[in-house]
Amino acid sequence: MTYDRGRCEEISIRVREHILAMSTDGGCFTGASLSCADLLVYLYTSYLNVRPDTLTDPNRDILLLSKGHDVPALYGTFAELGFIERERLANHLDCNDHIYWHPNRAVPGVEFHSGSLGHLLSVGMGMALSIRMEQRASRVIVILGDGELNEGSIWEALQVAHALHLDNLVAIVDRNWFQANVRTEELIPLEPLDEKFRAFGWNTARVDGHDFDALHACMSSLPIGTGRPTVVIADTMRGKGVPSIQERADRWFCNFTHDEVAQLTDELHGNAVATLVSPTLIVR
Ligand SMILES: [Mg+2]
Repeated sequence: MTYDRGRCEEISIRVREHILAMSTDGGCFTGASLSCADLLVYLYTSYLNVRPDTLTDPNRDILLLSKGHDVPALYGTFAELGFIERERLANHLDCNDHIYWHPNRAVPGVEFHSGSLGHLLSVGMGMALSIRMEQRASRVIVILGDGELNEGSIWEALQVAHALHLDNLVAIVDRNWFQANVRTEELIPLEPLDEKFRAFGWNTARVDGHDFDALHACMSSLPIGTGRPTVVIADTMRGKGVPSIQERADRWFCNFTHDEVAQLTDELHGNAVATLVSPTLIVR
């Protein structure tokens, strides 16, 4: 895949527009989706060998979005890259469409269902083992939430992946420093996260998850094939790109009015500051 920062930046704006458009008429996990949008845009445009015409290739790379509630960012990216029709995003809360609510394998590009947290690192581990046994070239990327790391199953998978020397497995932590509507370090502190992963035998890297050049440098130099799985801790910002909802505990899930979505979209484009009146979640 060819890396083009300008293309990444253009697509990431459009994906954010899609996320905001899905944040009304019932809403979605807006803040969380905005934090991992750049990761998904980078991976699908510049790292993974996955395109709409390679979805059945046995040597395609596998991406699993374990934090399935960020699916507006995933489907927004799919819409921009031709996996699904842009018009279909309007069905995100229509239970008659497989695009409904969380990742579903019936949607082109989705490799496994998610939504219930803590499971897809184990699924990815099984896929990575299968790929190695079949001597395929695919890499398995699993995107985890930082709050999701409080699921004990994650740490069981970390131990087994190390024991099996799964060096074709990469976990990426969307480290946005929030878990639901509270800061991670105020609930169950995660830091020093790098040291914890290293103690479980994983290679570690840390990167700004919104800096495409830094992401490309990091992902291009991962120690894949060196006998250990790798984790990339991507420091991100909840609500990234829309200042009035950035780093706000109460903007995890949002259900804005259409007028507010229009204001926020203007804000995304740097044209205005939104005046929000939609009720917010109660913080603890
Ligand atoms: Mg988080």
